Amino acid sequence: MTDIKAEEGKEVKVKAKKKPKKPPKQMPWFMPFMCDGCGDCVEACPQGGIVLLGLDRKVPSAWLVAPEYCIGCAKCADACQSSAVQMTAYVEKAIERYKTKKPFQ
Ligand code: SF4
Ligand code: SF4
Repeated sequence: MTDIKAEEGKEVKVKAKKKPKKPPKQMPWFMPFMCDGCGDCVEACPQGGIVLLGLDRKVPSAWLVAPEYCIGCAKCADACQSSAVQMTAYVEKAIERYKTKKPFQ
């Protein structure tokens, strides 16, 4: 287990599991405007890389803060009842997005 930290005004800490040796073939693409902040994807991720950001807001938003730990299993997308997570084959683009952008910025 490795601690990952993400900045969001205050620090968010997640417990991520082992990094995969190769990048996955697909990765989730979170759409914050569709997210209702239920947290189901956070629970579903076996790698522990998703957190809810904006917990002080009316509706928080899920974000993959540890994309390098993602194994592309799609459990987050399957768990989302709001269709706020779609899997994409543009893995590099998704990683770049998670590293440079966050909801509510
Ligand atoms: S695809 Fe799997 S490992 Fe990657 S964020 Fe979703 S649930 Fe976690
Ligand atoms: S399961 Fe969907 S609606 Fe719920 S927090 Fe995750 S992305 Fe948002």
